[in-house]
Amino acid sequence: MTQVVVPLGDAEPAALLARAARARQLGADLLELRLDLALAAGARAADLLAVLPQLPLPAIVTVRHQREGGRWQDDERARLRLYEEAEARGAAWIDRELAAQREHPWRPTRARLLLSYHAWSGAGQALPEVVAAMRAAGADLAKLAVLVRDAAELAALRALHDRRGPVAAMAMGEAGLPSRVLAGVWGAALVYARLPEDPGTAPGQPALDELLTLYRLRAQRPETAVYGVIGAPIAHSLSPLVHNLGFAHHGIDAVYAPFLVHDARAFWQACGDWFGGLSVTVPHKQTLAALLAECEPEAAPIGAINTVYRRADRCCGANTDAEAVRRCCERALGGSLHGRCALVLGAGGAARAAVHALRAAGARVLISNRTPQRAAELAAEFAATVVPLAQAATAPYDILINATTVGLRAPDDTPWPHPLRPEALVFDMVYDPLDTGLLRRARVAGCSVVSGLDMFLEQASGQFRRWTGRELPMAEARAACLARLAQRSV
Ligand code: NAP
Repeated sequence: MTQVVVPLGDAEPAALLARAARARQLGADLLELRLDLALAAGARAADLLAVLPQLPLPAIVTVRHQREGGRWQDDERARLRLYEEAEARGAAWIDRELAAQREHPWRPTRARLLLSYHAWSGAGQALPEVVAAMRAAGADLAKLAVLVRDAAELAALRALHDRRGPVAAMAMGEAGLPSRVLAGVWGAALVYARLPEDPGTAPGQPALDELLTLYRLRAQRPETAVYGVIGAPIAHSLSPLVHNLGFAHHGIDAVYAPFLVHDARAFWQACGDWFGGLSVTVPHKQTLAALLAECEPEAAPIGAINTVYRRADRCCGANTDAEAVRRCCERALGGSLHGRCALVLGAGGAARAAVHALRAAGARVLISNRTPQRAAELAAEFAATVVPLAQAATAPYDILINATTVGLRAPDDTPWPHPLRPEALVFDMVYDPLDTGLLRRARVAGCSVVSGLDMFLEQASGQFRRWTGRELPMAEARAACLARLAQRSV
């Protein structure tokens, strides 16, 4: 079973003990005492060693040298003396870098030996040879931490978790997050997590509470189904929140992680067979559509997908953004879109899904976009009409849809500086902030509204249904998203 380690580098013994108690209370199994960090912050070695027997959890003691990415500057002899004293005070594990162990072979007598390897230049190394070298050098546990830029590189790390001995192979950086939140599925011996209020001791360490509650590490097994969202950027995505909540709600043995992917083709080749299903976001919606042998009939004319699911032994693509636009509009209007007139602002990927959905539902569609040429191309493809921005104010719309990025994280920017028609439905796809300037004005004008969060939840429910045959618990999912968005706005 994967053990959860919380690294602590406090210089003050009382603070160290208090934070160790907090780590235990939040569910950690082990502590890592980063003596190099504590000493560099002004601690006395004797004070830190005296704390060891009082810790509430077994400890890994680490003295990482500056050339290994730590803060220790003294020589190897002094470092080994510190390790020997830590062992005598009850350290459960001693962590040494493989290179140091090779240069100065040493074995603890009571504690176990964790050998580490850090690579700051990607996973393109001979990693299996590193693990073999660690075992040959006497490692009880082999730990590898590799900085990655793209989630496609994770395949090399996952493959190291074979059954020949305990390994903890993790990736550093935002693209490395799945290696940590899927540690239980990968069969990693250890995973490092930070206290929620800490920045962490390595880039990409997840918060302990998120690891245990959102990603349900304790329930993960090698058989647990993996789902995820791929895109760049990806850190802002609310999808892990809602889909993990859905899996937990229905007791489904599955976990959902965010994958920072720059090269969708390389990722699909390296990791495509890991997944029960995928969400796909900007900028990969078209690339994935082209890579799949099969797409749903509604996705094919859009040429972009936001969902991959398995049908028997094949992968199929779907565009649940389009169905979400239709459903949200129908619900808000209380009926069919047939014969309605929709004015779509924007001509990018989201506008494309909206225009297709509206036309397929029998609505008349007008398109206004900053770049007229893109509006013209989209209109020609779906038999819609271009309205130049300068004339948009007088367009006779029943539905006004903002499918531009205007207003995104800029609540005072508006894509529509004109008066609003009080009888119209105003739909803003932007959901961060939730209460956009456009929606605020629409409410004041007496319009009915659809928010970006309404659309987000609707497209997510279409994904969840395809993956599991179940319904996403919408009220819980909405509440979780509102809480997360509220946190972001403070
Ligand atoms: P996209 O493909 O990059 O298209 C962006 C669109 O915004 C283009 O039409 C672009 O016009 C326009 N635009 C950008 N900056 C502008 C500015 N300063 N003034 C006027 N127009 C501007 O993006 P997308 O994927 O379609 O996404 C569009 C929005 O929909 C985003 O805010 C996204 O978060 C949101 N969205 C929400 C959901 C949901 O579930 N709620 C789902 C998908 C998308 P040009 O053609 O002139 O560049």
